[in-house]
Amino acid sequence: MDLLEETIVPEHARDVKAEAREFASEHIEPNAQEYFQSGEYPEEILEAGREANLVAQDIPEELGGRGFDLPQLLAITEEFYRADAGIALTLQLASFGCEITYSHGTDEQCEEYIRPVAEGEQRSGLAVSEPDTGSDLAGMETTAEKEGDEYVINGEKYWIGNGVEADWITLYARTGDDEDNPYGNYSLFIVPTDTDGYEAEHIPEKMAMRASKQAHIELENCRVPEANLIGEEGDGFWLLADFFNHGRIAVSGHGLGLAAAAIEEAWEFVHDREQFGRRIGDFQAVQHGLADMLMAFERARALTWRACEKVENGENQGYWAALSKTNATETAVEVAERGMQFHGGRSIFDERRIARVYRDVRIPVIYEGANEIQRNLIYGQAP
Ligand SMILES: Cc1cc2nc3c(=O)[nH]c(=O)nc-3n(C[C@H](O)[C@H](O)[C@H](O)COP(=O)(O)OP(=O)(O)OC[C@H]3O[C@@H](n4cnc5c(N)ncnc54)[C@H](O)[C@@H]3O)c2cc1C
Repeated sequence: MDLLEETIVPEHARDVKAEAREFASEHIEPNAQEYFQSGEYPEEILEAGREANLVAQDIPEELGGRGFDLPQLLAITEEFYRADAGIALTLQLASFGCEITYSHGTDEQCEEYIRPVAEGEQRSGLAVSEPDTGSDLAGMETTAEKEGDEYVINGEKYWIGNGVEADWITLYARTGDDEDNPYGNYSLFIVPTDTDGYEAEHIPEKMAMRASKQAHIELENCRVPEANLIGEEGDGFWLLADFFNHGRIAVSGHGLGLAAAAIEEAWEFVHDREQFGRRIGDFQAVQHGLADMLMAFERARALTWRACEKVENGENQGYWAALSKTNATETAVEVAERGMQFHGGRSIFDERRIARVYRDVRIPVIYEGANEIQRNLIYGQAP
C-alpha cells in the first residue's frame, strides 16, 4: 500500500520526495521505536540527514542550501512523518525559524547565522510560546528594551524546540506598548544560546514525539546587539504570521504522514488477524471503516496540496494554510483512533507502531497554533 504516491506532487518535487523516502526507510523507520522508547535526541540520524542534504535545505543556494520551495518541503515532510514523527520533528527543527532571517534579515545576519545551519555546523530554534501565553501572540510578556546599541531581553519561553541544543534561536519579544496597535508591539531577534543570561533546560518527558526535545528558557538581562534585530522594530508579529503560513503547510504534511502510517498499520493488521474463523478484514464493517479512513486521507491530501500551491503563489495564504493544517491534522487523529480500534487489545502495546502514531497525532492539532485558532483564521479570512 503506497498512500503517499507521487502523482499529486508537482513534478519538480518528485526527485527529492524519492530521496526522502529512501532516507526514511534506511535511517528513520528502523530506529523509530527505539528512539521513541528511550526518548533520546537522535543525533546520529540528524547527522545522516545533513550528509544526505535533506536537512535545512530550504535555505537558498547562495547561502549553502538547496533552496527547496514549499512543494519540495511538503514532499519531504510527508515521507519523514510517515516513518516517525518524533525523529522527523528533530530533523525539521534543526533549521526552525531560519526562513524568517533569510527572507527578511540582512546579508550579515545570513552569513553569520544561516550559512552554518545550511552547512550542518549549527542548529537553530524559534522561541515564541511562553509558560503563561501560548495562543495569544499579541499577549507575550518577554520584553526587549533598547539600551544604547543593544537590546536587553527579560522573560521566559516554553516548549522551545532545540532551546537546549541550538546554537542560536529566533526570539519573539515585546518592544512596544501601544494599546491601539497591539500587533505592532513585537519584534524578532537572533539570540545566540551562549549569551550571558540565557538559561535553558528540557521540559518534562512527553508522551508523544519523544525523539524531539523542547525547552524552558529563562532570559535574564540577556543582551544582544541591535544588529540582531530581524527586519524593523515592531515587525515581529507580521513576520511570524508570514512564516506560519508556510509552517502550517509543513504541519499539514505531519498530519498526512501520520495518517498514512495509521492506515497502513491498520490495513496490515486486519488482513492478518483472524476471529470467528476468518480474517477480521473480511468483515464488512471493518472494510467500511478502512474505506472511511481512505476517504478522509485522500480528502486531506488533496486539500493540502491545493493549499500548498495557493500559499506558494501568495494567494490568501492565511486562509489556505489554516484550512489544510486543521483538516490534515484532525484527519490524522480520526484515522489513528480507528486504527487503534481495529487492533483490539494489541493496540495499546507500547511497542506497536499504531500506539506511537496514536500518541503522536495529539501534537500537530496543537502546535503551529491550536486548531481553534486556525478556525478563527479560516472564518476571518474566508474569501
Ligand atoms: C511538541 C511541541 C513542540 C512545540 N514547539 C514549539 C517551538 O519550537 N516554539 C514555540 O514557540 N512554541 C512551540 N510549541 C508551543 C505551541 O505552539 C503551543 O503549545 C500552542 O501555540 C498552544 O499554546 P498553549 O499550549 O499555551 O495552549 P493555550 O494557548 O493555553 O490554549 C489551550 C487550549 O485552549 C483553547 N483555546 C485557546 N485560545 C482559544 C481561542 N481563542 N478560541 C478557542 N479556544 C482557544 C484551545 O483548545 C487550546 O488548545 C510547541 C508545542 C508542542 C506541544
